Amino acid sequence: MTAAELVLKNKETKFSFELLPPLKGNDIEKVYKTIESLKEFDPQFINITSHREEFSFVTNDKGLIEKRIIRKRPGTVAVAASIQNKFGIKVIPHIIGRGFTKSETEYALIDLNFLGIHDILVLRGDDTHKDKYPARTEECNQYAIDLANQVNDFNRGKYLDGTANEPVATPFAYGVAGYPERHEEAPNMDSDLLHLKAKVDAGAEYVMTQMFFDNKKYFDFVDKCRAIGITVPIIPGIKPITTANQLTILPKIFSCEIPEAFAKEIRKCKDNDAVKQVGVEWCTQQSLELKKHGVPIIHYYTMMATQSVRKVAEAVY
Ligand code: FAD
Repeated sequence: MTAAELVLKNKETKFSFELLPPLKGNDIEKVYKTIESLKEFDPQFINITSHREEFSFVTNDKGLIEKRIIRKRPGTVAVAASIQNKFGIKVIPHIIGRGFTKSETEYALIDLNFLGIHDILVLRGDDTHKDKYPARTEECNQYAIDLANQVNDFNRGKYLDGTANEPVATPFAYGVAGYPERHEEAPNMDSDLLHLKAKVDAGAEYVMTQMFFDNKKYFDFVDKCRAIGITVPIIPGIKPITTANQLTILPKIFSCEIPEAFAKEIRKCKDNDAVKQVGVEWCTQQSLELKKHGVPIIHYYTMMATQSVRKVAEAVY
């Protein structure tokens, strides 16, 4: 069953979450611990993010600071496979366009196909802070729709070298990203929605949203999507805030607003333990409202928040 099929058959709101591959040099145990602490809530699937190379400043042997290109979190495909093998939970590795050549993407798809992983999230990839990433535009998929088309070709047995083969036995099923508060580069919401519709028309079976802290933004977004004929499930993605500085960082990175009532509660906190508590309460209320609204699944962003997600799940599931 594909992720979308799983979601569509849910009679009550289910649980899923996203995690990151470990930083280079770390083992996979922390990933396993995260899953151990959340698996009792019956995750329908676990997403594993993907990260391109970026510029980093490191001190060399001579004590001088050097600018190097480093991929800090490789291993998405391997992490996905090891989770699926160890826990038997459906995995959704993220595949990103920018930062990876089309050939690298094709090889990743071949690996995933051999590994029996056929659900992916198709994304353009982070590119907001261009000075953070080395320019590597040639040969890459520029937009998520281009990557979706490469996946469609792959499913049909059409490879980059022009050879035509039989269609793959189990085609990749994929979802795409959606932005209740508009993608920051989009000139306006209507244009963003038209690009989203194009991704769905290309074959995306569901939309997974960027994090939001005001459910109204999600409900309005769903209405707008339905109004232009996007009929696939729109999976809400949310995150419990765990530190005071996320008040400024999250809106900057993810272009999402933090409602003033929530921000006010966070500002009153004396330390991050208190912030965590407020974050859990807010995220729990968001979840309960989404559940009441009948969403088939809620997707949680666990980065720096596993324990908080666990507390939310205890209250909601
Ligand atoms: P696109 O759909 O390509 O859209 C990007 C922008 O271009 C939008 O403004 C859109 O309106 C516009 N656009 C789209 N198509 C066209 C076109 N043909 N011509 C002109 N404009 C167009 N990033 C990572 O690097 N790794 C991850 O693992 C990751 N996981 C994510 C998971 C989720 C659920 C979400 C919501 C985001 C994730 N991101 C991840 C971030 C994502 O890569 C960025 O938000 C990125 O800037 C846009 O990705 P996209 O797939 O939405 O891009």
